[in-house]
Amino acid sequence: MRVPIASMMQESNTFSPVMTRYEDFNPVFGPAALERHQGRLTEMGGFLAVLEAAGKSAAPICAAWSITANRLVRRDFERLADEFASHLAAIPDPEGLLLSMHGAQTAEGEDDVEGHILKRARAVLGPDLPIVMTLDLHANITRTMVENATAICGYHTYPHVDMFEIGQKAARILLRTLEGKSRPTMAWRKLPLIVNAENQQTAHGPAQRLFAHAEELERTGAAEAVSIFPVQPWMDIEEMGSAVVVVTNGDSAAADEHARTIAQQFWDTRREFEVELTPVKEAIRLALEMEGGPVVLAESSDSTGSGSPGDSTGVLKDLLKAPLTGPAAIFLVDPDAVRILAAAGPGATTTLSMGGKYDTVNSAPVFVTGRVRMVSDGRWTPRVRGYNPGIETCMGTSVVFESGMVRILIAERSTMTVDPELFRSHGLDPCYMKIVVVKSPNGFRAGYEPIAKRIFVVDTPGVSSANFAAMPFHRVKRPIYPLDRDLSYRA
Ligand SMILES: [Zn+2]
Repeated sequence: MRVPIASMMQESNTFSPVMTRYEDFNPVFGPAALERHQGRLTEMGGFLAVLEAAGKSAAPICAAWSITANRLVRRDFERLADEFASHLAAIPDPEGLLLSMHGAQTAEGEDDVEGHILKRARAVLGPDLPIVMTLDLHANITRTMVENATAICGYHTYPHVDMFEIGQKAARILLRTLEGKSRPTMAWRKLPLIVNAENQQTAHGPAQRLFAHAEELERTGAAEAVSIFPVQPWMDIEEMGSAVVVVTNGDSAAADEHARTIAQQFWDTRREFEVELTPVKEAIRLALEMEGGPVVLAESSDSTGSGSPGDSTGVLKDLLKAPLTGPAAIFLVDPDAVRILAAAGPGATTTLSMGGKYDTVNSAPVFVTGRVRMVSDGRWTPRVRGYNPGIETCMGTSVVFESGMVRILIAERSTMTVDPELFRSHGLDPCYMKIVVVKSPNGFRAGYEPIAKRIFVVDTPGVSSANFAAMPFHRVKRPIYPLDRDLSYRA
């Protein structure tokens, strides 16, 4: 008997101008999935560590991860889901399933990819085998997920640094279930609530207090897993909203009571998540007034980890005009500019337009004169705890272009910008920069707080804007806070 394990992860943003393709997931199947995650600090790495210690053998199904963007196109979604199901069906005598997903993945014609994958898994495994699923803290929990999973475990940290531990937790729940020591019972609450990502740090503030409650219930054994999900809010789908999920050992009344209490606590602290953003020009002025660096400007509205295309010029245009006293680094996605600059080659000086080509509503291209400093194949390996540490990623052909003091790392394709290693791998050490621009609302803090002199979350328009009222929501079920500010709610 073997325990199938699988991961398929992407966070969607239905406002993004960029669709997702099969290739964006870089999927591998069978033993290659195990190779990718063995010994890594990922959920799959956590599954493997626990199974191995228990003398169980894992049956790897797939490993697939994509940068955030809009829905996965229909044909590619069907291909990926079919491949998952056929590889699962090929495992002889499966004992259950350990499944690692994001929880906010959408495809063309499917608002709930996780629910769909769970149903496909149930169709193969039947109603009785345990399926334990791990999810990102920003998952959008749906009724289909709760009905088809045996237990759900979400991250407890943001910046997300506990993927390995959540994988371990899920694997232990599965093993105890197989041994007959646990009968997972889930209760949940869906809240008509979305909150800003910028102020969800689990190290302090309202999120810290909520997760301390969750940890306490787990530590005392009152619950097997307590998860709080402040949803990734940039999805215009009907069943969108925050959630709380509690798993107990066979005690449905206790699970329900804990879910109710935490959901109410979450609702009651909702106003504390509101965030004040700094205008770009003011952030740059304050940075230049300061001794040393780096000063980090977080452009959350163009977060490549929240579904934005990474091509906003909202900060770049002001950075180019600023009287910089030291080098500044910024990341930009622009395949056209990369093609032109890579052809010109290192050392070439030129003027070209860049950025603002995907999100033409919120951003416009800027003309930049500068010199090509480096051309690379865009391969780099994240180092800090968080997204896929130790697993090489590729953002396509990439160029470092310098214009005065501004170093623009331009890539063919999007990538996570939360890890200083992104710039370091291209000869730009953030420690020696006056200003570093990251495209992330909060995840960057794990890698940047230890080195940043000061952090400003800046105010630019974009498809992952903190200004929810400005987003074109049509399908989301109303009322929902803060789109409907006077809403009252009892869990
Ligand atoms: Zn997240």
